[in-house]
Amino acid sequence: MALKGKVALVTGSTSGIGLGIARALAAEGADIAMSGFGDAAAIEALRASIAADFGVLAIYVPADMAVPAEIAAMVTAAAAQLGSVDILVNNAGIQFVSPIETFPDDQWDKVIAVNLSAVFHATKAAIPGMRARGWGRIINIASAHGLVASGQKVAYVAAKHGVVGMTKVTAIEMAGAGTTCNAICPGWVLTPLVEKQLNARAAETGQSIAAVKEAFLAEKQPLHEFSTAEQIGASAVFLCSEGARTITGTSLSVDGGWVIQ
Ligand code: NAD
Repeated sequence: MALKGKVALVTGSTSGIGLGIARALAAEGADIAMSGFGDAAAIEALRASIAADFGVLAIYVPADMAVPAEIAAMVTAAAAQLGSVDILVNNAGIQFVSPIETFPDDQWDKVIAVNLSAVFHATKAAIPGMRARGWGRIINIASAHGLVASGQKVAYVAAKHGVVGMTKVTAIEMAGAGTTCNAICPGWVLTPLVEKQLNARAAETGQSIAAVKEAFLAEKQPLHEFSTAEQIGASAVFLCSEGARTITGTSLSVDGGWVIQ
């Protein structure tokens, strides 16, 4: 229970990787502020199960991560209800796949707003409290696409490279304030974000979902295996640990070897 007494705000924790991270941090004793979209009853069930399974406080603080004022209000609400925000996990994200020539302008704006600008706004709102308390952990969920590119994903790749850069700036500015900032760069994780891409490729090529999964792994990951949300959660727990107190500004790849090639 290394994180007992700490409060973690995890954006996009109503699904996928964010939910895996929220549960992993709760398993270490952290109280959890969840955020993200979804059906109200389903979100309440997830919130209640985190509280019951791990014996921690768990609250839901809604915000549209494309709206800066809502992001600031989310951080304020989490701190007001749970006492502080000691750990901020900037995880909420979206994808849009298209060649540049036909990439819709509004989708560019949306992906940049949710995947890049939201990280800035949440970090800006959370760091004064971390500085005041002399302890903090900021974990930005970037991607293998924060380090290397693929075609058809211009906004996502630009945003995630930006997140990796922002991680370094945040780390420098928070050095000496007991606060580290690191990025986790996952490869393929089977979440709704990736299932949408699997379905689109299957529809486009006429291949089965199983064949498309094989193709996704063969194209990118030498280990030929999807990572899980639980594994990303374990990396987040490590980055919050005492053992990681001098790790800052770095990018931790959890990607089955995607970016080593
Ligand atoms: P997901 O679709 O399962 O979850 C995304 C979460 O973000 C959900 O909780 C959703 O409600 C929330 N969200 C999206 N737009 C929002 C908005 N405007 N306001 C508030 N919340 C919003 O996706 P995931 O795969 O779990 O992705 C989580 C993060 O991991 C993203 O940043 C994604 O880019 C990154 N990532 C995912 C993979 C992968 O293979 N799944 C790989 C690398 C990086």
